[in-house]
Amino acid sequence: MGVAPPASLSMNYRHAFHAGGFVDVMKHVTLARLIEYLKLKPAAFRMIDTHAGIGRYSLTGDEAKRSPEWLDGIGRLLKAKLKPEAETLLQPYLEAVASENRNGTLARYPGSPLLARKLFRPQDRLSALELHPADYRRLRDLFEGDVQVRVTELDGWLALNAYVPPKEKRGLVLVDPPFEEAGEWARMVEGLSKAHRKWATGIYLLWYPLKEPREVNGFVADLKAAGITRMLRAELSVAPAVAGTLYGSGLIVVNPPYTLEGELKIVLPALAAVLEQGKAGHRLEWIRGE
Ligand code: SAM
Repeated sequence: MGVAPPASLSMNYRHAFHAGGFVDVMKHVTLARLIEYLKLKPAAFRMIDTHAGIGRYSLTGDEAKRSPEWLDGIGRLLKAKLKPEAETLLQPYLEAVASENRNGTLARYPGSPLLARKLFRPQDRLSALELHPADYRRLRDLFEGDVQVRVTELDGWLALNAYVPPKEKRGLVLVDPPFEEAGEWARMVEGLSKAHRKWATGIYLLWYPLKEPREVNGFVADLKAAGITRMLRAELSVAPAVAGTLYGSGLIVVNPPYTLEGELKIVLPALAAVLEQGKAGHRLEWIRGE
């Protein structure tokens, strides 16, 4: 007899349908910039990936064939001619993707835990949480024997509170839930507020969908009211803002490195130009500064 999944797990969401799409590209490029920044100091850092997925996605498997979102994401980016300054900033991300596809054809895409791991130095560590039982097993198998990675079958919302601060006292927390359930916006604000009280100097990277402008406005208002300083809001839209359709991707970066705003000023317009599906745009602003 199967065990009922925890209430906070959406069993319907399978990231394999979306891997390598425009959302992943924007999120993973930003993640790679944060990791590159953390690597500037020799001290070890930890990444906590609260909703980690399976780590490696086939772009030729059933899910990707049924929903080939990657064609309008990483597929386009690899064919694009970028300006040199954008290309330089995207290089660590693109090299990590290339390392999954050594024969030159795009067949696999690295999700956040694998992308991060590829960018790590020997001293850096990853704690990856995944609650879907089958996805957890795949992620665990992917990193089997890797002393730098610990994969745990645990509710990422619990981990967001329980795993901070990490013993390294430096690093970042990626919070990337499916947004398929009611209450995930509020859980994000509450989870961040609690974690931030325990670890105020960590970098937090929160993803949210641009789907319902009303929900995004409420989320941003709640974040402002949470009293957390140094929060940067970055958004990329690739299609006309029709409520109910996923027309863009948003990120909140808490405690961004001082370099990030300038980098995103270059990266976001470059991605918008490449990933446009009818109407593209971007937004970069501080929700709260110092
Ligand atoms: N972060 C991944 C990446 O960028 O490659 C993608 C993650 S996907 C958007 C969300 C994942 O969260 C899914 O694999 C889903 O099974 C998992 N999930 C859903 N609810 C969860 C929870 N409460 N705790 C941990 N994982 C959860």
